[in-house]
Amino acid sequence: MYELIKKDGRAKRGRLKTVHGVIETPVFMNVGTAAAIKGAVSTDDLRQIGTQVELSNTYHLHVRPGDKLIKEYGGLHKFMNWDRPILTDSGGFQVFSLAKLRKIKEEGVSFSSHIDGRKIFMGPEESMQIQSNLGSTIAMAFDECPPHPATREYMQNSVDRTSRWLERCKKEMNRLNSLEDTINPHQMLFGINQGGTFEDIRIEHARTISAMNLDGYALGGLAVGESHEEMYHILDETVPYLPEDKPTYLMGVGTPANILESVDRGVDFFDCVYPTRNGRHGHVYTNQGKLNLFNKKYELDHRPIEEGCQCPACRSYSRAYIRHLLKAKEMLGMRLCVLHNLYFYNTMMVEIREAIEAGNYKEYKKQKLEGMAN
Ligand SMILES: [Zn+2]
Repeated sequence: MYELIKKDGRAKRGRLKTVHGVIETPVFMNVGTAAAIKGAVSTDDLRQIGTQVELSNTYHLHVRPGDKLIKEYGGLHKFMNWDRPILTDSGGFQVFSLAKLRKIKEEGVSFSSHIDGRKIFMGPEESMQIQSNLGSTIAMAFDECPPHPATREYMQNSVDRTSRWLERCKKEMNRLNSLEDTINPHQMLFGINQGGTFEDIRIEHARTISAMNLDGYALGGLAVGESHEEMYHILDETVPYLPEDKPTYLMGVGTPANILESVDRGVDFFDCVYPTRNGRHGHVYTNQGKLNLFNKKYELDHRPIEEGCQCPACRSYSRAYIRHLLKAKEMLGMRLCVLHNLYFYNTMMVEIREAIEAGNYKEYKKQKLEGMAN
């Protein structure tokens, strides 16, 4: 159940009540692909750095260790010891980006596992069954992620099929949620808007899926190679056709600046691998822009990554020490950078929520962007 608490321009401050607790939005979901945040980060760490939602990947968990094993264990929450909300993606994105030799039909997609070459078939029903076995809080609909760029004809056919697949996802989820041995009988379903950079296809599709009364709506197929300006334009045009009284999720986005701009266009759910991936390479976010801790100038720097930051890295360690750890390939170096970056993102979301509540979001966004551009 989603409650729109306040609007500031188009920016939404909301609250999604789930069976695993309340999600305050705008929210940044922390990406734990294979049921773990890369960088040796535990669920205890996540609780310390203010994580609200953990995101896991259906495709990866289906391939290894297998969703049936996780169901038998008691579900993903129990398996990874995380009692707050989990969102699982549908597997669609991985099927279209990682898997080899795929073949798309009306029923679904046949492909080979990227790990052992094993033949796998996934369609809307299979994706819902896997996500039901995992027992996530929010399941994503199975969609096609069209290539970028794609022709108009390809895109229209693809989006029409994605709409038909969404009907099947909804039907299958209703069936699974009513089974006696289901892990999470209250599993929510988010639909996904596609259409690439064809705004009229996007708008028509947004109208179609909005009529299906789902728990939330995502925009997929963005940040796949188009310019930031094109992405913002699509958000300007499409978001108004998605229901305001439901969560609006921009998948796989992005930089702090992308998030600040997208919140201003009505988006309130985000996920991205940038903070973890950058952290693993010693690139850390601050309010004065990104630092590369491998840089020689930090060799004797006694300061934390960011003055005043309350994350586990900044409370205890200097840039000089973390730089040494990274250079020596000590896992702790990578871990501290990832913890700082996720804390930076999670804390920015707290500031965003406060700014919307105070009605000064535009001013906050301007100051934050100016600071980070230094
Ligand atoms: Zn920090």
